[in-house]
Formats: sequence, structure tokens, C-alpha cells
Amino acid sequence: MKLILVGIQGSGKSTQGNLLSEKLSIPYLSSGHIFREMSKEKTPLGRYIKETMNAGYLIPDDKTLEIVEEYLGHPEYSSGYILDGFPRTVPQAEKFVNGIDAVFYLKVSDKEALWRLAGRDEEGVREDNTLKAIMKRIDQFHGKTEPVIEYYRQKGILHDIDGEKKIEEIHAEIIEKLHKSNT
Ligand code: AMP
Repeated sequence: MKLILVGIQGSGKSTQGNLLSEKLSIPYLSSGHIFREMSKEKTPLGRYIKETMNAGYLIPDDKTLEIVEEYLGHPEYSSGYILDGFPRTVPQAEKFVNGIDAVFYLKVSDKEALWRLAGRDEEGVREDNTLKAIMKRIDQFHGKTEPVIEYYRQKGILHDIDGEKKIEEIHAEIIEKLHKSNT
């Protein structure tokens, strides 16, 4: 099964992705994690990714597609995956033809997401998490990723999820919607 999680930073995608991964025994993959690993490389590409991420901007579509598709070509993803953070633009969604079964949009307000991010402990702090970069990311979500939600809605595979509920309630709702869409 191939699932996608969409939502602004702080909407709970990685929490829900990991819970789903455990429940369904499907690997979880986050494009942000891939890029964070690449940004540690002391190469021109690594440095470029680091600068782009730290400013809160998106990596260009062609580069992103190439990198994510390369990852998804690994054998562990051959029978399915839960993707977090990709596709993030309509061109990425259009070019990513991969038999997606369902897309879950974890909807939380900007205010709630900012509260959550402000409350995260030091351990989880990322170098690309300055307030300026977070605000830019929220901005890019509204401008570039919201149209992706409508793209999948038109395809009939989008499920809206109230991301402000409790973690267990959200997980249960995703599972329920998944079962219903498969029957
Ligand atoms: P995230 O962990 O999902 O917030 O991603 C962190 C950063 O990685 C983003 O701010 C972007 O710079 C980059 N990134 C992750 N996924 C994508 C994507 N699908 N397209 C472009 N850039 C991405």
C-alpha cells in the first residue's frame, strides 16, 4: 500500500507516519529526513541543500523528484510506503506517477502548529528550525502545497483529517478511513 501524509510542519505527520508504519508494517519515509542527511555531506550539492533548507525554501522539483524516486527504488519500498513531505508542489505530484492509494491531509491551524513547534524540547531541535525558516515553510505550504491537496482531492483519494485531535484519535480516524476506502 502506498500512502501520503500532507500537512504543515507541526501537524503530526511523522508521529502519525510512525504509528501507521507500525500498525500496517509498511516502511515510513520522510523527504525532509532524506534532505537533512544529504545536507551533512561536504559536497556542493550537500551545501546547496543545507542553505536551501535552513532558509525554509523548497529544493527544486527536478532535484527532489530524482532523489525521492531513487530512494523509493530501494527494495524495502517495493511493496509500499508511507511518504511524509512529498509531493509538496503540483509539478512534483504530476510527475510522480506511482499508484498512490490514499492521501491524508492532517489539518491544523498555523497557530496550533506554531504552538506545538515552540513547545518541542531541545532534543528535537533542527538546525533548519529558526522562526524565520518555519514561517517561510508555512508560507510555502499555503502557496505551493495546498494546491497539491486539491490535486489529490480531484483524483478522489484525499482524506481530510482533523489534526488537532488527540494522537490516538487521529490514528484511529486514519485507519478507519483507510478501511472504508478499501471496501
Ligand atoms: P520537512 O522535514 O518535511 O519540514 O522538510 C525540511 C526541508 O526539506 C524543507 O523545508 C525543504 O527545504 C526540504 N524538502 C523536504 N521535502 C521536500 C519536497 N518534497 N520538495 C522540496 N523540498 C523539500
